[in-house]
Amino acid sequence: MLKGKTALVTGSTSGIGLGIAKALAAQGANIVLNGFGDVDGPKAEVAALGVQVAYHGADMSKPAEITEMMAFAAAQFGRVDILVNNAGIQHVARIEKFAPERWDAIIAINLSSAFHATRLALPAMQAAGWGRIINLASIHGLVASAEKSAYVAAKHGVVGLTKVTALENATTGITCNAICPGWVLTPLVQKQVDAKAAALGISNDEAIGVLLGEKEPSKQFTTPEELGALAVFFCSPAGNNVRGVAWNMDGGWTAQ
Ligand code: NAD
Repeated sequence: MLKGKTALVTGSTSGIGLGIAKALAAQGANIVLNGFGDVDGPKAEVAALGVQVAYHGADMSKPAEITEMMAFAAAQFGRVDILVNNAGIQHVARIEKFAPERWDAIIAINLSSAFHATRLALPAMQAAGWGRIINLASIHGLVASAEKSAYVAAKHGVVGLTKVTALENATTGITCNAICPGWVLTPLVQKQVDAKAAALGISNDEAIGVLLGEKEPSKQFTTPEELGALAVFFCSPAGNNVRGVAWNMDGGWTAQ
């Protein structure tokens, strides 16, 4: 379905980003990966799906590097048809104890990077008359949790940015939508499981039970594969008139 298209997924060396990159690759899209850590493993996983894969190591907290990444993607594949703004970090502390540098980093990586990548991707999409922008928000783009001030503020911002991007392009073939997962067991969440296990003196499995039990009625993690399938739907013809939604996949978290 996406043969001949190019998808750039930020923060795709791990977790949800890699799951979405693989789901888009399985539909035939060439992929530009981005993110830190091991690169060869994720590149091989995507290439095994029979598409072309490139990598750019831009630090998403640095607008100049985002500009370089977008130029690199255009030089490699002609243009970016599908942009998935996924890179994100977390930091947990009460507001009065929240380090200002952590606030600045979360706003830069989780929110401002999506603005920069979007503003740089739109002109080529507009010239082509087709594009898909998918923003990884979170249920924390819709509701809050204590001790996550920067993350909740950034994710509410991502939902707002999604709506504006959708509206400004509403008469074109470019759509923009947000995905709002509940808990997904990635390295980002494993750190929170570890912190809970240490704080309560319980095992990893018990800490997972506590974490899911607090918020997620299904008591199940959403998987990167399920989120990848939702991204594929947004890119499909059936998604042509889905514009500006914040679509939760959260085991009932926000239904309460
Ligand atoms: P993860 O830690 O597994 O992956 C994060 C990715 O972002 C990695 O590839 C990492 O290298 C990259 N990254 C981090 N800082 C970066 C930077 N400065 N520049 C470039 N890349 C950078 O996390 P994840 O759980 O897969 O999270 C992906 C997205 O999904 C994030 O936006 C996160 O907020 C969101 N999300 C996650 C969950 C969850 O439960 N895991 C729930 C809701 C939303």
